[in-house]
Amino acid sequence: MVMDVRSYAASSAVTPLAPFRIDRREPRADDVVIEILYCGVCHSDLHTARNDWGNTTYPLVPGHEIVGRVIGLGAEATRFKLGDAVGVGCLVDSCRHCDCCDKGLEQYCLNQATYTYNGVDRHDGRPTQGGYAEKIVVSQDFVLRIPDGLDLKGAAPLLCAGITTWSPLRRWKVGAGSRVAAIGLGGLGHMALKLAKALGAEVTLFTRSPGKEQDARRLGADRVVLSTDAAQMAAVAGRFALIIDTVPYVHDLNPYVPTLAVDGTLVLVGYLGPLDPMLDSAPLVMERKAVAGSLIGGLAETQELLDFCGQHGITSDVEVIRIQEINEAYERMLESDVKYRFVIDMASLKA
Ligand SMILES: [Zn+2]
Ligand SMILES: [Zn+2]
Repeated sequence: MVMDVRSYAASSAVTPLAPFRIDRREPRADDVVIEILYCGVCHSDLHTARNDWGNTTYPLVPGHEIVGRVIGLGAEATRFKLGDAVGVGCLVDSCRHCDCCDKGLEQYCLNQATYTYNGVDRHDGRPTQGGYAEKIVVSQDFVLRIPDGLDLKGAAPLLCAGITTWSPLRRWKVGAGSRVAAIGLGGLGHMALKLAKALGAEVTLFTRSPGKEQDARRLGADRVVLSTDAAQMAAVAGRFALIIDTVPYVHDLNPYVPTLAVDGTLVLVGYLGPLDPMLDSAPLVMERKAVAGSLIGGLAETQELLDFCGQHGITSDVEVIRIQEINEAYERMLESDVKYRFVIDMASLKA
């Protein structure tokens, strides 16, 4: 039976999000029905709601940092049981048979992964709708287990902000003593500090704001470097094996390249687009340095992150809001006025 579900949706690029009813499909054999308790608020939600990337289909229900409880199961959905605490991130399906899917890299599915919202369901061709809603129905293979004891509202941002920083930390084999830096202290940056620290790395934050030092140290930074201060930048020359660049807008990468060690990599996770000013290849060639990119993570890697966070008691620092406050939260997010992630308490949908 199709479920009629309360949600908040954008009906165009220029209208605020507002109450909206959507249908959730009748569970297929491998589906899990989830009552959503919390949903994190990601910059992608705002960009998609406002059609900043030019590909939005309306009406749109955003949200891909979803945490809730299992309230229904398809006939062959045996991985979960009723009442389990579960999560859904940015992906709800993929082709499941290409080279990337076979390697657990569903986010790079060669036949295009199905995104949690603003995607198209592979089976019924209907638009996918995200987590600013009472319930969601998802194939069990794209549902994550939230470890016991992890605060559910703080766990929600692990599904996007967390995995986006975890995946490069794992890909570039960060461990005890690795020298790692993050650029920017927002939703992604604060997770990068916490996760790198828990992996045993020596952690540095690059920031343009002198006021962030105390918070950065609390979150795991051993050192804070003001990127606008040439002397401080020179003091970390040749130092880092990995720099995770979380800045979501165009910015100059060239000043960071000298701070990489030989064989070091700067990985972009926040900004997608042409670089300006242009990137000088000479220091990359001369010291075998790399500039790379990374997109969220696959399902197995996301579960690995959640399990790691369960073991280490790591969650996101969150500000809980009611769904009725979402439009104001978007404006505050644009001003970076949040420490460090908004999370919607979905009980407010029923208010
Ligand atoms: Zn996101
Ligand atoms: Zn695939």
